[in-house]
Amino acid sequence: MSISIRFLGTGAAEGIPTMGCKCDHCQQARQKKGKLARERTAIIFSLPGYELLVDTPPGIRQILAQNQVKYLDGIFITHDHNDHSGGLQEFRYWPDKVDLFVEASVYSRLVREDWGEYMPEIVFHLPLRPGLTIRFNSFFFVPFEVLHSTRTFGLALYHKGHKVVYISDSDDRFSHYTRCLMHDADLLIANTPFFNTPRGEAHIGVEEAISLKERVRARQLILTHINHHNKPHDVLEEYAGQFEGVTVAYDGMVVEV
Ligand SMILES: [Zn+2]
Ligand SMILES: [Zn+2]
Ligand SMILES: [Zn+2]
Repeated sequence: MSISIRFLGTGAAEGIPTMGCKCDHCQQARQKKGKLARERTAIIFSLPGYELLVDTPPGIRQILAQNQVKYLDGIFITHDHNDHSGGLQEFRYWPDKVDLFVEASVYSRLVREDWGEYMPEIVFHLPLRPGLTIRFNSFFFVPFEVLHSTRTFGLALYHKGHKVVYISDSDDRFSHYTRCLMHDADLLIANTPFFNTPRGEAHIGVEEAISLKERVRARQLILTHINHHNKPHDVLEEYAGQFEGVTVAYDGMVVEV
């Protein structure tokens, strides 16, 4: 085993079931729960001697409790949208300061919030820049910028010849540089809230993510950050099953690469 990945939450900004929504997907999720219900997106990468949480949605307190997460070393914030960063202030109540990997302009937007004065007491800020490697002892990651409706960063993680690339929220256009990082990845993780992305939404759709996997020759693709307008888990999983190496995340799923 090289990198262990825990999908704590796999829903988009609204979560599933969505508050007050009476659509079939949400009704089913309310009744059957299980893989149909999704908290907002948060992922833990377990690396040698380092537990890295990617994104802190609102509700992170409960998400960490449900998944019995008692220890973290660092947090990587991909962008300042509320569904990815809104829970950061909960770390005021975490027992220790944690490392915070976030690009400088994203950090300054987070600090401006009403609780921002506490930030230096909560985290050690480690500013990241796209393309510049963050090197640890036996592994490293490279942040890269993607196109979304605000500045957004994904990361490519490398350990013992394995590579995992988390794209985060992004539309379907990628720089040549980013495609190079994705090339030959053991695992690509894509946020695909919609099956067919509506016009004006800066998100890659399910079908585009699958063709991206083929194009960059990634061995596996996991779809996450699923919206209630997307297909319910079982239906989406059946669709994904037609393609080799494509699966759909659910809350609590653990994969090892
Ligand atoms: Zn999002
Ligand atoms: Zn709904
Ligand atoms: Zn976003």
